[in-house]
Amino acid sequence: MKWVYTIARIRGTDVKVHLTFVLFLLWWAVGGYQEAGTAGALGAALWLLAVFGCILLHEFGHITMARRFGVRTPDVILLPIGGVARLERIPDEPRQELLIALAGPAVTAVIAVILYALIRLNGDDAGLGDLSPGRPFLSLLMNVNVYLLLFNLIPAFPMDGGRVLRALLASRLGLVRGTRVAATLGQFLAAFGGLYAITMGHPLAVLVAFFVFLGASAEAQAVETRVAGDGLQVSQMMVTDFRTIPVYATLSDAVELLLSGEQREFPVVDNNGRIEGILTRDNLIRGLSRLGPSGPITEAMTQGVPPVAPSLGFQEALDRLRSSRLPALPVVDAGGSLVGLLTSDNITDLLLVQRATPQRPFGAQQRG
Ligand SMILES: [Zn+2]
Repeated sequence: MKWVYTIARIRGTDVKVHLTFVLFLLWWAVGGYQEAGTAGALGAALWLLAVFGCILLHEFGHITMARRFGVRTPDVILLPIGGVARLERIPDEPRQELLIALAGPAVTAVIAVILYALIRLNGDDAGLGDLSPGRPFLSLLMNVNVYLLLFNLIPAFPMDGGRVLRALLASRLGLVRGTRVAATLGQFLAAFGGLYAITMGHPLAVLVAFFVFLGASAEAQAVETRVAGDGLQVSQMMVTDFRTIPVYATLSDAVELLLSGEQREFPVVDNNGRIEGILTRDNLIRGLSRLGPSGPITEAMTQGVPPVAPSLGFQEALDRLRSSRLPALPVVDAGGSLVGLLTSDNITDLLLVQRATPQRPFGAQQRG
């Protein structure tokens, strides 16, 4: 079951939709159908698509500005609460982050002004701030953009206003403390807003508050991790004391290794010590039920595992590990020899040590 689907690729950025967004679209269309049949369903779906078109334009405002500062955006994801453009990194200067954060709301403001002009040119009443369902299409769309603008300018994470606040604070407090203030403010507002929405009986607003809360903590976490790992290389983060399994071994050999120690992922190597794959604990358990204890390792292991170089930087190593969806990646030097294992457990340990001793960066030799 996949939660995220890529629907388009625009100038190097994957446009993805979250399954909950698709469900939201369907739910909206069903509501329209119950009110006015097929035409109602089409109208409701079209309306929501128009809103998300505006949100996508907003996100591409951020993305285009980020590109000007050399920051790529691998993907943008559409959630029921709006869009999230995942920047490859936080720009180096607070001023750049400020401009990137403001570019999205600027696009939204331009959309609202254009819609307002169109409505007025038609000689209609714009009905500023009026979101009652009976309003004409263009007027509603304009007002949604106005509310979107106001919502995004709230100075708390994960809203754009939070980024503006962080950029302003970062020049004085530093990135970590600046982020912490903006994120705490976001969590506080989300908790407060969520409780208020519950007492008012607004399920959609409760959902928004929930996503805001999660987004705020995720941002704070990501920045602390990034700063803690700044300047580290894979060679300092990898496990160097580990066991390997030869390609000709059986699953029962692997069971013995698994039960004899703490190691959960085993590199599978050929006679020359070159990496052939990785056997994770999941691979082993699934292999056992499928092939039995005498089954060959090579049938159960994960093949085509991308190796990482010892000189690779912290953030990229973390991204590779995450995108591989494996608990461990082999570290292979320029000569092709296996020199270590990059595991998420070890990185977590390292970051805990780093945080406890911010003045003295450690290598990763504290775990066997
Ligand atoms: Zn934005």
